[in-house]
Amino acid sequence: MAITVKFFASFREATGKEQETIEGAANVASLLEQLTRRFGDKLSRLLYEPGTNKLRDTVNILVNGRGINLLSGLRTELKDGDVVAIFPPVSGGAALTPEELERYNRQIIISGFEKRGQRKLKRARVLVAGLGGLGSPASAYLVAAGVGHLTILDAEQVELSNLNRQILHWSSDVGRPKAASAIEKLSKMNPNVELEGRPEAVTRENADELVESVDVVIDGMDNYHARYLLNEACVRRQVPFIHGAVEGFVGQMTTIIPGEGPCLRCIFPKEPPSAQVRPVLGPTPGVMGCLQAMEAIKLIVGIGKPLVGQMLLFDGGEMVFDFIQVRRDPNCPTCGDV
Ligand SMILES: [Zn+2]
Repeated sequence: MAITVKFFASFREATGKEQETIEGAANVASLLEQLTRRFGDKLSRLLYEPGTNKLRDTVNILVNGRGINLLSGLRTELKDGDVVAIFPPVSGGAALTPEELERYNRQIIISGFEKRGQRKLKRARVLVAGLGGLGSPASAYLVAAGVGHLTILDAEQVELSNLNRQILHWSSDVGRPKAASAIEKLSKMNPNVELEGRPEAVTRENADELVESVDVVIDGMDNYHARYLLNEACVRRQVPFIHGAVEGFVGQMTTIIPGEGPCLRCIFPKEPPSAQVRPVLGPTPGVMGCLQAMEAIKLIVGIGKPLVGQMLLFDGGEMVFDFIQVRRDPNCPTCGDV
């Protein structure tokens, strides 16, 4: 099993080669290990943060011409004949402009976040599935924080009864596609963010394509059929999936990192019952959507501790935040070992 590795710019200088053939590397992590054994400190200093096995945010890796996921990319599987390209960011790619340094100043000055974190956000791609009560605040905070690329997906049109909680949609938007209404507001909020609106539903056919080019997926959906489809695609593609759901005063949230904790199907093996019209007080999805954006930003920047293996249960009526342990099911039909 031979993998061709092509080096560019500083990586070419460090290795003294334009390309190298590596045998028997099952994934990107083991390929990089072999390369650093072969080319030594000069290469590992370019690849990793000092004293860690975390990739520097100044490393770009393409597998067969596709960028690997920022968060789970090291686990990307390789097969015979694959071509891996390693290069530094093209000039200007993730550099921060003076306007961005000022706009994001209050988060850049957070210890551990810094310009490095902001550059990671700028390179990141996030999918927000559902532009309702959860997706409105989640996408607004991601856009305000300076995520580089946001795909927003919703097949529906704005209805009058959405407006008590879906704060990206306003009175004049009733009847408009939610994706168009959301893009209009989000692009005014922060013109630095690339926005892609998709007025469509999650289906078995599009789920993998929706997930494969993003670093994180936010679940702002209102039904478990679509949630299960995206959960399955996220498990297949090893993309983090931040689940949220609300009813009345009550909300739930958990962060699913495939391979590290349970997936949505481990936690809910069967679709929970749901009514056609569910009661919701606006601030409930407001709270949960903000927390989903918080989890996404933490994962991208590599700061804090994600809510993996735990479900947050929020009851706004009693003003209680509870956490319950959730476990991976080895027999799970989506992520199980069998
Ligand atoms: Zn599972």
